[in-house]
Amino acid sequence: MNLADSEEMFQHLRARGAQRALTPQEADIILVNTCTVREHAEHRAVSFLGRLAKWKKEKPGRRIIFAGCAAQRLGDALKKEFPFLDMVAGAKSIDAFPSLLDKSGLFPPLQETLAPEQEGLTGYVTIMRGCDFRCSYCIVPYVRGPVKCLPLQHILQETAQKAAQGAKEIMLLGQTVNAYKDGQTSFADLLNRVSEVPGVERVRFMSPHPAYLTPDFLAAVRHNPKIAKHIHLPIQSGSTKVLKEMKRGYTREMLLEKLAALAECQMTVSTDIIVGFPTETEQDFERTLSLVDQAQFFAAYCFKYSPRQGTPAAQMQLLPEAVLEQRLDILLNKVRDLSARAYAAQIGSHQQVLMEEENKGRSSNNFWVKTSKNYKIGSIVDVEIARADGTLLFAKE
Ligand code: SAH
Ligand code: SF4
Repeated sequence: MNLADSEEMFQHLRARGAQRALTPQEADIILVNTCTVREHAEHRAVSFLGRLAKWKKEKPGRRIIFAGCAAQRLGDALKKEFPFLDMVAGAKSIDAFPSLLDKSGLFPPLQETLAPEQEGLTGYVTIMRGCDFRCSYCIVPYVRGPVKCLPLQHILQETAQKAAQGAKEIMLLGQTVNAYKDGQTSFADLLNRVSEVPGVERVRFMSPHPAYLTPDFLAAVRHNPKIAKHIHLPIQSGSTKVLKEMKRGYTREMLLEKLAALAECQMTVSTDIIVGFPTETEQDFERTLSLVDQAQFFAAYCFKYSPRQGTPAAQMQLLPEAVLEQRLDILLNKVRDLSARAYAAQIGSHQQVLMEEENKGRSSNNFWVKTSKNYKIGSIVDVEIARADGTLLFAKE
């Protein structure tokens, strides 16, 4: 999502005469797009900003823009701490970014409205901004605001533009992407409409919320081969008690039902899990481990709980850091084993691989596959998987 937002902001700078620079030394403008979902991400962004003081001094006229979620949370106070900072553009003001540029008077005026450039085979298309949930640990709704869905026509136009410039795969983006709605158009309708745009071979999306895995979505996945057979479905925990305290809006049993329905559609599933939520007991953690075993995720991003100021969970007593470390370690080991098993389970299967390099591409169910022959980048090749090695599959064609 941040990559897509960075690109969008870059296009507004480009329309004012800027070009991509390859190194900071070459650049006259640095836009730092930031994340604040965990404290560590925000620290990294702020310390990077601190290090730019020297860069700014080296050449007059250099500009620094601090954008995104950490910028939204910290606001103009940052300018006091970092007086060399030229502009703060919080995540909520992404739509207002061009007018912020103009109001600052620090950048050349709009020269011409250029069509955005598409780089690579995947075109990122934002379909909604913000989030209407209030998961008790999460800062996203505070820094990104409530849900705003982009109109269907706008999404189709952007998709067509990206496809015309070479995108074969479209990645639809939103915090609860499958809650998309525009009038009568549901997320399932949108997936089908986007897949019909000429040039689009594959449609992916991120991040869906388990509460919106509806029958019409599952039907679309079953009937439309252009919808990728992979879903990144963050579960956060396998304990109904913790899920309730996290205010996730589903139980372990509901998750298991949804996961079974996805397995029936031949979808591979990856996930996000938080360990060490303040009320998580040893038993709760065991519940997460057993769910991970049952679900056979092929990948999982595991995070230590990080308290975020202003969220309800930040009021709760933290678990000792050693407990978080230990649980993370146990979970990561399990995930590593599962992942190796999931790769091995692909041996003998037939896959359609979208070639991202001459001899390497991604299957619809999101495994990296190396081919023995070379193919045109952007083509889709039918292969049989011969062997697996770490996180790479090898094809025989
Ligand atoms: N909208 C998505 C998640 C967005 S945040 C969803 O609801 O699934 C991306 C991931 O960061 C989350 O899935 C969660 O695992 C992690 N995360 C969010 N807040 C966190 C916190 N306070 N501490 C640790 N991890 C967190
Ligand atoms: Fe955060 Fe929950 Fe919204 Fe995801 S659904 S962005 S975890 S509040």
